[in-house]
Amino acid sequence: MVLDYLKDLNKAQHEAVVSTEGPALIIAGAGSGKTRVLTYRIAHLLNQGARPSTILALTFTNKAAREMKERIASVVGEKTARYLWMGTFHSIFSRILRAEHEVIGFPSSFTIFDAADSKSLIKTIIKGFQLDDKVYKPGTVAARISMAKSNLITPEAYSQNAEFRLTDKGMRMPAISEIYKEYVKRCKLSGSMDFDDLLLKTNLLFRDHPDTLEKYQQRFDYVLVDEYQDTNFAQYLIVKKLAALHKNICVVGDDAQSIYSFRGARIENILSFQSDYPNHKIFKLEQNYRSTQTIVNAANSIISKNKRQIPKNVFSENDSGKSIKVISALTDNEEGFLVAQEIAETQLRDHYKNSDYAILYRTNAQSRIFEEALRKRNIPYKIYGGLSFYQRKEIKDLLSYFRLVINPWDNEALKRIINYPARGIGQTTLSRIEAAAVSHETSIWKILTGLPDNNPGNLNKGTIAKLLKFVVLIQEFSKAVAENDAWEAARLIAEKTGILKDLHSDKSTEGLSRHENIQELLNGIQEFSISALEEGRPSKLENYLEDVALLTDQDSDKEEDRDKVTLMTVHSAKGLEFKNVFVVGMEENLFPSSRAEEKKSPEALEEERRLFYVALTRAEENAWFSYANQRYKWGNLEFCSVSRFLLEMDEKYLDSPVENARMRPATRSASPEESVSVGYRARNKAKQQPEKTVQKPWRQDAFRRKIESQIPGATRDNQFVGDDPEKILQGMMVEHQRFGIGKVIQIEGTPPNKKATVFFQNAGRKQLLLKFAKLKIK
Ligand code: ATP
Ligand code: MG
Repeated sequence: MVLDYLKDLNKAQHEAVVSTEGPALIIAGAGSGKTRVLTYRIAHLLNQGARPSTILALTFTNKAAREMKERIASVVGEKTARYLWMGTFHSIFSRILRAEHEVIGFPSSFTIFDAADSKSLIKTIIKGFQLDDKVYKPGTVAARISMAKSNLITPEAYSQNAEFRLTDKGMRMPAISEIYKEYVKRCKLSGSMDFDDLLLKTNLLFRDHPDTLEKYQQRFDYVLVDEYQDTNFAQYLIVKKLAALHKNICVVGDDAQSIYSFRGARIENILSFQSDYPNHKIFKLEQNYRSTQTIVNAANSIISKNKRQIPKNVFSENDSGKSIKVISALTDNEEGFLVAQEIAETQLRDHYKNSDYAILYRTNAQSRIFEEALRKRNIPYKIYGGLSFYQRKEIKDLLSYFRLVINPWDNEALKRIINYPARGIGQTTLSRIEAAAVSHETSIWKILTGLPDNNPGNLNKGTIAKLLKFVVLIQEFSKAVAENDAWEAARLIAEKTGILKDLHSDKSTEGLSRHENIQELLNGIQEFSISALEEGRPSKLENYLEDVALLTDQDSDKEEDRDKVTLMTVHSAKGLEFKNVFVVGMEENLFPSSRAEEKKSPEALEEERRLFYVALTRAEENAWFSYANQRYKWGNLEFCSVSRFLLEMDEKYLDSPVENARMRPATRSASPEESVSVGYRARNKAKQQPEKTVQKPWRQDAFRRKIESQIPGATRDNQFVGDDPEKILQGMMVEHQRFGIGKVIQIEGTPPNKKATVFFQNAGRKQLLLKFAKLKIK
């Protein structure tokens, strides 16, 4: 095989690819070919005769692993590429843990809890401990436990760790340590691991069983890691241990793109690499191949404001490109409208595909506005994050059956489906069996299979009969799973449980879509079975489940999603590239997020700036920044200030200046519906005068003046006048422009930040800042 793939590399990349022995640190800016170097390095190793099963490559998403594998396969052939150990940390280490399950005392068929399962278990524990779940918020407790695990702090170490204890006390949750202990115990009883366990247990496995560690050290001649700047302590240690023997370790990363410190990622890992491997080689890649010069230079100008960084000189020799367009909108809805308009217009002019566009936002909640705007224009889009396919109720229900059949100790799966479809097993019965399981330190399944002779929950005959019927059903499934491949078994379960029938009989739109989703899941399982059989891999239901449990939101890559605009958070956009990128919501307290402001720490702000750097460097040809003058927050239309990141940027990269002051109030508080129609009217107007508006619709002042002068009523005062906020008292009935009539249940704070909690008849409970809420006393 010729080495002609090497000609796709520049000199620095070439060197980094061919220096395969010894520790190597590739530290480089965005878009400079880090991932490409890693991919080619593996292809090169294989071409040099390395066996694929001796190469371990760790990526950030399954999708990245898949793409790298495909690329490598195109150089060395699919058969060779198949045997690479390539995947995310979680998928690779769950594979190792399954192989070594006896050593760690878990069943080989252990199931994996997703975030919702963990949270639900934590909730049960909090309730069991009779703690107040308004103080002990399950999400916060889950995050504390996760933080402890990714720093390898076991429950025992946690209770002795002064720092953790002090913080918990400060957060008025001194019992977290006890919850953590119970959580670990119950996961073990369930034969289940959460995501953090996959890393923690691998570390413990290697720490406590040197012979096992040595086996894997011997196995992996080469270890490679992408996105090294976002590894946490647990991941860092595993990599270090595995590479300790051969020391052929190659990591690539960019300190300027470290954006996961809230998940425990440590930028220092890059720095410690240098001291961990004193005879390492460093490769710096500086030429960006992804983006125009304008985009690269603008991104450099942002990141140079950060104090903590490794100096780099990233440059592009691509076209200089167009200036970055600034879109200033009156309201958040108009922001959506203008972004969709830009997409439609540039598509018409430059013939871009839908998939050439990405809209990147700081928080998931922002997606709705863009979804609506794109839908109105019939522009197809796909959304990453939010509720992924595998988190949908009907999918989780069926997957829970699979989980339970494969691992009957999995309490979270059992609780989910013991009464779905309905079989007359009520919450009280379930609580009793669960309590019995907890007090006997065993699983719910064990209690069920002990019936009727062992009846610790004092259940009556009728209930016992129903429970035993359920047990028999699961046992039948378990037999079917053992005898069939994944597809046959899954189809049988979907039918025999009655799930298919249940969904089929629901003729509402949601019912239909749920039925379709189940069909789609089954199609996916069929595909899995076929390709596993073709490739000679195990094709059982448990093998399918292993794959699915490790999928992340970023991984969904369905055929039908191919030509769509991508909507995603900046975090999930890491490593990706698009011809056209909109970075939206460029406002203070949104991007940078208000959390950075609350923390008042320069580090938090620097992380936000790195996040902004990541966002902009996704763009190949064109970039846009957009912001709104007013945005709905907690039910109120609030004025926004333009993001400091835009003000920091050298104006020469922008097509229009950004106002350096708190934004002027818009002429009236437009409701979201109204502001969209304002946008539409403006667009219709634009159609009549294409030259003027179509070219620069983002020009803030011109655009606003246009609306004010041409749309009747756009400047009229808001007709809804509220009463003096000071007169609003607890117990009063009030009216709100959007939420209607409600009762004030609480008043807190002092002017001007006085807040009212109001229970609205139609809109439920809302907390409102009185100065903006314009409440009318009824
Ligand atoms: P990020 O920091 O965003 O992860 P990266 O450093 O991993 O980026 P890649 O994704 O590997 O960069 O490369 C960016 C783009 O530049 C890709 O489209 C890649 O194919 C292209 N590229 C990289 N090196 C070269 C080269 N020598 N010649 C042509 N194109 C290249
Ligand atoms: Mg990359």
